[in-house]
Amino acid sequence: MKFILKAIRTVFIFSILTVLTQVGGVIYLLYLPFSLFVKSEKYSFWKSIVMRSGGFSLIYVLICLFIIPPLAKKNGLVQLPCFSTKEIPVKSGSVLMSLMNRNYVKPVLQEAFFKTAKDVQKKYPSAELIYLDANFPFFEGFPLIPHLSHDDGEKLDIAFLYKNKKAKEFYNKTFSLTGYGVCEAPKKGETNKPNDCEKQGYWQYNLLKKVTFSKVKKGVEFDKIANRFLLQKIIENKEVKEVFIEPHLQNRLNLGKYKKIRFHGCHAVRHDDHIHFQL
Ligand SMILES: [Zn+2]
Repeated sequence: MKFILKAIRTVFIFSILTVLTQVGGVIYLLYLPFSLFVKSEKYSFWKSIVMRSGGFSLIYVLICLFIIPPLAKKNGLVQLPCFSTKEIPVKSGSVLMSLMNRNYVKPVLQEAFFKTAKDVQKKYPSAELIYLDANFPFFEGFPLIPHLSHDDGEKLDIAFLYKNKKAKEFYNKTFSLTGYGVCEAPKKGETNKPNDCEKQGYWQYNLLKKVTFSKVKKGVEFDKIANRFLLQKIIENKEVKEVFIEPHLQNRLNLGKYKKIRFHGCHAVRHDDHIHFQL
């Protein structure tokens, strides 16, 4: 019985780690023989749990920092940087999400993203582009839940630009742990796809908004002119074939004439909390 329970626990942890981080499950299996050194009979239950998870976390982080990036490069994908520099003003919306290996893209997409960020910085020196979910490092077709289309290194989500109302500098932070779920919702009289989709039974469309614990957007404003400029710069990249934002934002930002911007469909999630673009 004890063996069966242990096996169920191992399969459960393996599955969760694989879904969230792609390689975490395999790292967990590699780590298991080492965890035997911390036998629960020798230590108290909680001490054993802390020591095991600490040991696993250390091994996991070391492998993700030093082994996964070169292997992914051989697979044709590069890792986006976690922190911005003067030369490359892009950064991760969440270091935790990056540690979950959700920040890999094809080099051509990275190039387009960096170019866009530099163009934006030229016009708005205090602005940095924040990326959210990109793709996992291996296996084309492996879905990145909940962004199922992010499975080939050709998709990238980034945050909208917000400005501090008083300082007039760019805010350069996200409003939730993941960067998702805090929306620029439709105003009265604007097209309201989130409502339409929910009415049609697409319960997942507004899910991230409902489950996100977020900070209140206090003291900041959605910068219409800067976001319009950002979207135009994304579209200018020849390699970028499609951009998804909510229709009400496309209208609000007067971007109706751009064919690359289109509605992603009710089967996806709402796109007024982030911009999605793809090769
Ligand atoms: Zn996306």
